[in-house]
Amino acid sequence: MIKGLVQGVGFRPFICRMAAKYDLFGEVDNRTDGVRVIVNGDIKTIDKFSNDILRNAPPASQIKSIEINEIQSAAFNSFKIVASKILDNQITEVSPDIAVCQDCLDDLEKDPERIDYPFVNCTNCGPRFTIIEELPFDRQKTTMKSFRMCKSCSVEYNDILDRRFHAQPIACNSCGPVYSYKDPVKNLSNIKEILEEVSVQISSGKTVAIKGLGGYHLMCDALNNDAVRNLRQKKQRDSKPFAVMFRGINAAKKYCYIEDEEEKALKSWRRPILILRQKKLLAEQVSNGLTTIGAMLPYMPVHYMLFRMLKTPVVVLTSGNISDEPIITDDLLAEKKLMPIADSLLSYNRQILNRTDDSVIRIINNKESLIRRSRGFVPRPVEVKCNVEGILAVGSEQKNSFCIGKGNQAVMSQFIGDLKNLATYDFFSEAIDRFSKLFRFKPKYIACDLHPDYLSGQYAEALEKELKIPLFRIQHHHAHIASCMAELGIDEKVIGISLDGTGYGSDGNIWGGEFIIADLKDFSRFTHFDNIALPGGDKAIDEPWRTAFSYIYKYFENSFNFKSISLFNSIDEKKLQMVKEMLEMKMNSPVSSGAGRLFDAVSSILGLCSVATFDSEAPMRLESAINDKTDDIYPFIAEKPIEFSETLKAIINDLPVQTISIISAKFHNTVAQVILEVARQIRAETSLKKVILSGGVFQNKYLLEKSLYLLTRNKFKVFTNRLVPPNDGGISLGQLVIASKRIR
Ligand code: ZN
Ligand code: FE
Repeated sequence: MIKGLVQGVGFRPFICRMAAKYDLFGEVDNRTDGVRVIVNGDIKTIDKFSNDILRNAPPASQIKSIEINEIQSAAFNSFKIVASKILDNQITEVSPDIAVCQDCLDDLEKDPERIDYPFVNCTNCGPRFTIIEELPFDRQKTTMKSFRMCKSCSVEYNDILDRRFHAQPIACNSCGPVYSYKDPVKNLSNIKEILEEVSVQISSGKTVAIKGLGGYHLMCDALNNDAVRNLRQKKQRDSKPFAVMFRGINAAKKYCYIEDEEEKALKSWRRPILILRQKKLLAEQVSNGLTTIGAMLPYMPVHYMLFRMLKTPVVVLTSGNISDEPIITDDLLAEKKLMPIADSLLSYNRQILNRTDDSVIRIINNKESLIRRSRGFVPRPVEVKCNVEGILAVGSEQKNSFCIGKGNQAVMSQFIGDLKNLATYDFFSEAIDRFSKLFRFKPKYIACDLHPDYLSGQYAEALEKELKIPLFRIQHHHAHIASCMAELGIDEKVIGISLDGTGYGSDGNIWGGEFIIADLKDFSRFTHFDNIALPGGDKAIDEPWRTAFSYIYKYFENSFNFKSISLFNSIDEKKLQMVKEMLEMKMNSPVSSGAGRLFDAVSSILGLCSVATFDSEAPMRLESAINDKTDDIYPFIAEKPIEFSETLKAIINDLPVQTISIISAKFHNTVAQVILEVARQIRAETSLKKVILSGGVFQNKYLLEKSLYLLTRNKFKVFTNRLVPPNDGGISLGQLVIASKRIR
């Protein structure tokens, strides 16, 4: 019996090949809890056989255990795959998409049927989730169904010893999908001509829209500043950094510092975007002053084929969409919306069924921390300790993902985006329908956020009425903490530290700097960051200088000379006056304990970002400014609530005499110290020792590493998200397990 993630990843054909290698006869079949193998043979051979299975398992599989038992069985005269004896709806495993493997890359040069064939794949690699409509993963249930297998593919498909045995998307030059190229003057269909044309376009600074695995990308030379600026303007994307794709690991190492764990993640079959520290500047417009680079390596055959021709070792490869809309998957829509942005369009004639963005990862404290969970991860379930059957958790508003419960598996959707955008909201409801069909799921319970205005919440309410099923409303920061507990199977009281920008509090205020005592069912608020008025509400989130003003106004009142800080000299006098009046009259100024707001304020006081052009820009620039080492901290008052008047006073005093880098580092150290201090207070009162850190603020590598260091040195047991993002993209998992606890 082989347990773990062994279904839908070419595991049974792999077992067949292994059996043949050891001349073993027997059978293999899928079970609910894994794959069962029966063979006739002596224990020595079987031992070798099982060790070989462990060592050479397919890349996307993950063996938890191999258990060998002796049983009485008939003598077999061959080795075969037998039909699964379990009910279909119990098999929930669908593999994520897998980057093209080395064997297939070799086939691009030596397999006569697949010379330069850009859709080469095998049981170890290729598209999975993006092309599947229904289970089981069979060609007829995928968007490959419109391509009739040719004779030679069909021979391979049916040959138990072939690497392409039961490879559902199997294809070759004579039967599979093909690329086509289009620009205002010509159409091309020969792949060689296409790639030559595209590489000419890229070298001359043009933008090419290119159909990827889970959606369209826009591509241009990442070393050509004019090309990148041009793309940025057309895409209406202010200054958010662009992801890039390097030719290979050596090229990446020229521009980024890459540590071992980062290299491993970069090269893994999931091929995510890694947030790396910049070593050498790409075109300045790529990361716009941030000292990190979002980098990935080629993962589709066509990427490799393109880099053979391209002169540049690195291209911008950003999602093909307009500002906040979801990444485009539809060919007609791509023509309509991307052709005006790009100079040409490179497409292919296989439909993308399930949209997936590139996933984004950062290595923090030598472990993977997910920022965006999509291609390569979805729809791998998270195993949880409680029964979550029949629960639909609809997630948050921004960076939305939702989660469905099957038994003790939480299947989380791909990254959906910000639901306030209409097209993204459509994607959200479509994706719920797709997941329901794919996993034969019917909601019996729903979970959503407490926030009365979230569109996900309104969706949940409509469903509650329509299906007459119970709805559970779950507090945002409790869900953050529970998301991490669910991953780790922690089911007891913990110290929960949830730092993020915004979440609806149980008291109707905006929360976000929360120290809670929580279990999976409930929580109580121990203390929180100070409540600060946000003049203009959401406007203050877009314009961090307003929050900076508000902090100073609260802590120093009228005696403070605002003009002593250069930030306020750069702001229009009328606006300053207006914000001041709003604060005085408590008009349109909701209060917030959001930790993100403190980072916003400090970032803008340091002159790093007074108006944000993308989400979290101010905190990102603040972290990015650190390039010195210091353990110094600023004073603070860790009471109920936690006050930062002394902190801000000291920062302002430091402004004329210290570098921005040192001030920023000291500020981050201070927040880590606050975390330690409050954790100690809670431990003293409750004897709890387990600390959970979650919430978007913990995407900050410097802060998280510092906090982990301080807490573990002080004998706390600290846990952070690994399988789902600590940001709002992970909320749905927390909602799911909390709902499960409240049901039962
Ligand atoms: Zn392959
Ligand atoms: Fe949040």
